[in-house]
Amino acid sequence: MRRVLEYTENNLIYMIVLLGVMILAAVFWNLYRKEKRAAKRAREELKGGEKFYSSFGSNQKTAYVFVSEKGRKVLYVTPNLELITGIRPEDLKTDTELMTGLIVRREARIIGRNLETWDKEEEFSSEVNYHRNGEKELHRGKITIIYCKEESGYLLILSDITEEYEHRREMEQKLLAAQKESQSKTDFLSQMSHEIRTPMNGILGMLSLLKAHLNQPAAAEEYLKKTENLSHFLLTLINDILDMSRIESGKVQLEEVPFSLEQLAEKLDSMFRSTAEAKGIHWKIEMQDFDVKYVIGDEMRLSQVIINFISNANKFTPPGGTVQVLFRQMDRIGNDLHFMIRVSDTGKGIKEDFLSKIFRPFEQEDASTAHNYGGSGLGMAIADSMVRLMNGQILVESEEGKGTEFSVYLSLPVSETQDEKETPIQNVTEEDPAMLRAIEAFTLKGIRILLAEDNDINAEIAMEILAMEGAILTRACDGEEVVQMFKESQSYSFDVILMDIQMPKLDGWEATKVIRRMNREDIDIPILAMSANAFVEDRRKSQESGMNGHISKPVDYDEVRRIIGEQLWAVRSH
Ligand code: ADP
Repeated sequence: MRRVLEYTENNLIYMIVLLGVMILAAVFWNLYRKEKRAAKRAREELKGGEKFYSSFGSNQKTAYVFVSEKGRKVLYVTPNLELITGIRPEDLKTDTELMTGLIVRREARIIGRNLETWDKEEEFSSEVNYHRNGEKELHRGKITIIYCKEESGYLLILSDITEEYEHRREMEQKLLAAQKESQSKTDFLSQMSHEIRTPMNGILGMLSLLKAHLNQPAAAEEYLKKTENLSHFLLTLINDILDMSRIESGKVQLEEVPFSLEQLAEKLDSMFRSTAEAKGIHWKIEMQDFDVKYVIGDEMRLSQVIINFISNANKFTPPGGTVQVLFRQMDRIGNDLHFMIRVSDTGKGIKEDFLSKIFRPFEQEDASTAHNYGGSGLGMAIADSMVRLMNGQILVESEEGKGTEFSVYLSLPVSETQDEKETPIQNVTEEDPAMLRAIEAFTLKGIRILLAEDNDINAEIAMEILAMEGAILTRACDGEEVVQMFKESQSYSFDVILMDIQMPKLDGWEATKVIRRMNREDIDIPILAMSANAFVEDRRKSQESGMNGHISKPVDYDEVRRIIGEQLWAVRSH
């Protein structure tokens, strides 16, 4: 029995120990499982974070920073932060204020204020100007802040958009310039339309009056005279408008040919002295301090500018006043000659408030200017654009009632010689007294003219007017026909060819070249362009094709007579 009891006692102790071990094992197992679960959760969380951060990506221009909601701690920074901001990621982790310090202070304050009222629903975004850490140069940046509720933090996206910004600004400026240009073109066009309609209205009105007064010769003549004046005015206006729009559209190409400023002064003198003196104006033209013979530039365009100043000076100066033109050499630096051409007058002067507007198209001092002096207000705008194209400058000084002074400052390369290339045909009469006398006495009586003209109305007018003077005319209707007719004619059966340029089959320039290459004695017959191609470039082409002169349409028949006279005098005197 005692053994039985001993056995039972031992078993009980065993059981209790076993139970204790089991309980302990269960406790430790539970603890272990708990630990494992926590570790797993922690691992998963870490994995989720990495996934979140790795979604930020990375490139040369955009950096990402993740900041915790609580404590505003920097939890993650992409390594390219330094490339964009100049701040090392590890420095930002210890000092979050570093970034705010880069932004231009005023902008940083505005962003700060805006963030105070940010509702976090939408992303916050702002462009800023910032300096890279320690650098002076300004960069353009973009900051975007996204509130990430699930991750309990803020994602900051920082981009350097300097290049895009500059490109955008360039485009904006281009757009603005284009809009401005388009507006000024519209203004120019509507003003131009008004300016053209005014004389056109006058012409048509005068023609109606003329028709109604055909049986009253004195009145009819008066209406005709007015129609003629208005037509001339209209022509000048159209020429100026075309000049202006060609300059504006960059179609004017300046010549670079040696020319003599002294000869230019002489030409201006012969052009204006007699008209100024006839009006009772004291006319002076002077060259001061010049030791340079030739400069390289566009003589014709420069003279166009000066001619405009002189015409105005003559126009706005009353009899008894003085108009003076001064050419002065200022300096010679290297091969460049700096000089000034000044046109001064003692005329009516210009009001101070108009001086600032004087170079704007269609501007005249007041409504009475056009009424009393004519003109359209385009001359100054053309002169200004032309001089600017030559990299020069115009200065104006004027006092009302006392007079005006226009000074053109230019710098042109010096040339030692005047090379072979001539300036385009200008139809300017050289002052040879024998020739002037001969031309004065010249008539078209008996002159045999071959006229190449495809337009019937123009041909009819030319033939009737020239025939009225006694010329003998033969007409060709296109370029091929004029070549054929000349070829089939006996040598020297024509004295001159008047050649339209734009004609079917063969243009006037080509027809001239063909004639100049023919195998016959009279291939140097004077050929004169008579064309609506009226630009300097057209005159140049006429000269290059071998023509002797260029008459622009609408044709001035006095000019035709004079040029034919000059040409025949030249042929006959050699
Ligand atoms: P236009 O002479 O055809 O009117 P411009 O452009 O040449 O056009 O001149 C514009 C205006 O400038 C003139 O209408 C006139 O009011 C003023 N002006 C130009 N030159 C002179 C001058 N020498 N004296 C007084 N006014 C002038």
